[in-house]
Amino acid sequence: MKIITRFAPSPTGYLHIGNIRTALYSWLFAKKNKGQFILRIENTDFKRSKKIFIKNIINTLKWLNIDWDKGPFLQSERMVRYNNIINIMLNEGKAYKCFCSKEELEQNKQKQILNKEKIKYNGKCRNKKLKNNIQLPYTVRLRVPKKNTCATFIDTIRGQIIVDNNELDDFIIRRSDGIPTYNFCVVIDDWDMKITHVIRGEEHINNTPKQIHIINAIGAYIPIYTHVSIIKDKSGKKISKRDGNFNILKYKENGYLPIALLNYILRLGWSYGNKEIFSLEEMQKLFNLKNLSKSSSIFDINKLNWFNKYYLSKFSENDIIDYLKKFCTKNSININNGPKLKNLYQIFHKRCNTLKEINNLCFIFYKNPNYQNNLLIRNYLNIDTKIILEIFKKKIIHIKIWSIESINNIFKKILLKLNISYKKAAMTLRLAITGIKNTPPINYIIYLMGREKIIYHINNAINFI
Ligand code: GLU
Repeated sequence: MKIITRFAPSPTGYLHIGNIRTALYSWLFAKKNKGQFILRIENTDFKRSKKIFIKNIINTLKWLNIDWDKGPFLQSERMVRYNNIINIMLNEGKAYKCFCSKEELEQNKQKQILNKEKIKYNGKCRNKKLKNNIQLPYTVRLRVPKKNTCATFIDTIRGQIIVDNNELDDFIIRRSDGIPTYNFCVVIDDWDMKITHVIRGEEHINNTPKQIHIINAIGAYIPIYTHVSIIKDKSGKKISKRDGNFNILKYKENGYLPIALLNYILRLGWSYGNKEIFSLEEMQKLFNLKNLSKSSSIFDINKLNWFNKYYLSKFSENDIIDYLKKFCTKNSININNGPKLKNLYQIFHKRCNTLKEINNLCFIFYKNPNYQNNLLIRNYLNIDTKIILEIFKKKIIHIKIWSIESINNIFKKILLKLNISYKKAAMTLRLAITGIKNTPPINYIIYLMGREKIIYHINNAINFI
């Protein structure tokens, strides 16, 4: 049997970590088994689906080197197919038209809430004899069997799952605007595309029994399911934008490497002994469904940084210098206006987590800081801290041997003399010299920037105060 998997995102938002994880697992499973991986865009929610999100899906997968064998298929282009099947189901009595109004359904719901009953459609139209010429709007509902009472499927993580039909009502498969619902389209697509393994997020597990009933009604086959457990933040909540669950392309902007991100995401819910680092080839060779974790995973930006730093450290000196040259040209940075790129590389390459941190170094060394309109700078660079700058300047003028040690010694002397914390002294100098609050160690920056430029920046900062 040829293994066929798919990634089926809805273009109603930017792809995030959870989406990409299911894409990665589906892709790897197909690759490992020399099968096929299909990209399908589920855009039947016409109001929320946007072209910009379709573009985002394609660009994200391309950036991560996740390629697809077929597609992208768009559900919006398959309406005729869906409706043909719905018409057959109506003719065969496997589905029926429901003329209940919104108000009626709402009343029914309120009654059930009041009686503490499960909210379900009451089946009013299930056995109605219809006159052919009714012109009222209607939805189409699946006639869920009352006998043979269970939906059964295999989930590779949780085993066999059996859901009693009493748990379900006759749910809608086509809305009154003529658009088939998500559960219906998924089933028809998986059937037509001969999908053997459906790998998707745990949030879909409640949809699966519904999909099984549709599969049974149309005589399709049941694929093997894998519902991947959710990703939480450190406090145990579902991850939010704050914890990094944003547009994956933001990681590109923030200087992460595709391989580092893939490696991190792979390990977020899957393991292979204690192995942490996987090349693309290894991922494709070793991935299996068996080692997926049943429990939720925890998103940890430090771990992602660790992977990124690891892969950055694998770049050769020439690779990084070439990268920096290109970055400087693109950003109109004159590299003659600061230390040699080679020196920058030697001092900082093991300290940077991301390419963005490396980029920021270029700005620090080759451009002047901008003190204007910056609240932090206003807070730090003031009459109170001016003295730190003045003493520092005076002392570095007299340094005989320009080295990191002699710079450290000046720091020590200033702390003693002014009785202030290292944090305060370092932040004052950092902001005066670089204009930003997060930088690699300030003593290294001072050393590499050189005495003349440091004095120049300090003078500017003093004038600013
Ligand atoms: N379109 C669904 C989503 O974006 C995925 C459906 C599926 O994988 O079956 O969550």
